Amino acid sequence: MKVNLISDTVTKPSEGMLEAMFAAQVGDDVFKEDESINTLETDLAKLFGVEAALFFPSGTMANQTAIKLHTQPGEQLICDHYSHVYNYEGGGVSFNSGVSCKLIVGDRGRISATQIEACINPPDFYHSPKTSLVCLENTTNKGGGAVYDFNDMIAIRALCETHNLALHLDGARLWNALEVTNEAPAAYGKIFDTISVCLSKGLGCPVGSVLLGSKAMIDQAIRIRKVFGGGMRQSGYLAAAGSYALKNHRKDLREDHRKAKEIETVLSTCTFVDKVQPVSTNIIIFSLISTFSELDFISKMRKQSIDLIALGKGKLRMVTHRDYTRKQHDHVLTTLTKMN
Ligand SMILES: *Cc1c(COP(=O)(O)O)cnc(C)c1O
Repeated sequence: MKVNLISDTVTKPSEGMLEAMFAAQVGDDVFKEDESINTLETDLAKLFGVEAALFFPSGTMANQTAIKLHTQPGEQLICDHYSHVYNYEGGGVSFNSGVSCKLIVGDRGRISATQIEACINPPDFYHSPKTSLVCLENTTNKGGGAVYDFNDMIAIRALCETHNLALHLDGARLWNALEVTNEAPAAYGKIFDTISVCLSKGLGCPVGSVLLGSKAMIDQAIRIRKVFGGGMRQSGYLAAAGSYALKNHRKDLREDHRKAKEIETVLSTCTFVDKVQPVSTNIIIFSLISTFSELDFISKMRKQSIDLIALGKGKLRMVTHRDYTRKQHDHVLTTLTKMN
């Protein structure tokens, strides 16, 4: 038995998903003639109460497109110092858009309106980069799956309006947040200018992200996606997986969250564990006591066929997902308990 907890991207398509992919009606999406892509985009736009949506091969490309849409070279965006757009998109913010990041040390990846306000450069002070965009992440990745309080995001929206800033949500794991809070996706559509969502994380698709926004935004986004090399042809096979996942897999996120909580509970009783971050969704971040190195721990776990990753700075991470079975889960809990 191999247990892979390095990420929620390691899943394989379920049988039903594969059948839906086989049965997909496809066309050439560069000519916008792929029925399955068009259906997925229309359905998601409707779900979020926005005018339009656009399918992307990756979350990175969807985020990078959004940043390109909202900024001009030389400008600055504001985000948490843990954010994916800053840490894990290969420096695309500067490479693609010529933009710098003003970083905020938030609370597990979440930033507040007060913190953001303090980072906005005065628009008439031409010595500083012009602040043009705020990027939030929900749930947070490096922040350990933390979920925003909706009222905090409303306050950020109001601040952005006052200061004429665009607001983008990196919602790679927004599905996890929605599962925990029971919020309506349309509430998000109302307060963000653009939202990116992943289909290949918790929902279990092989590939795919979608960018949501107004028709004017998405019309521009198609051009940027083309420039980035993200115009795909018969991508409807992938969209069919997405539509299947939205209908059939969303509710299973609850089980991922439950298992993550159970791992948190066991870890917090382990004498070799120093700290476990509060688990809100499907990501568990923890650190070990100083006499136990992360590398030793990872190799001990690997001997029991359990894979996890080190995040650096003494932090370890496990992520639960839909291919992480109850049987595997029992094996993980037992292994941790026995290591005590
Ligand atoms: C995974 C992830 C993305 C997108 O990553 P891709 O691998 O390019 O699909 C974006 N933001 C966050 C927070 C993520 O966790």
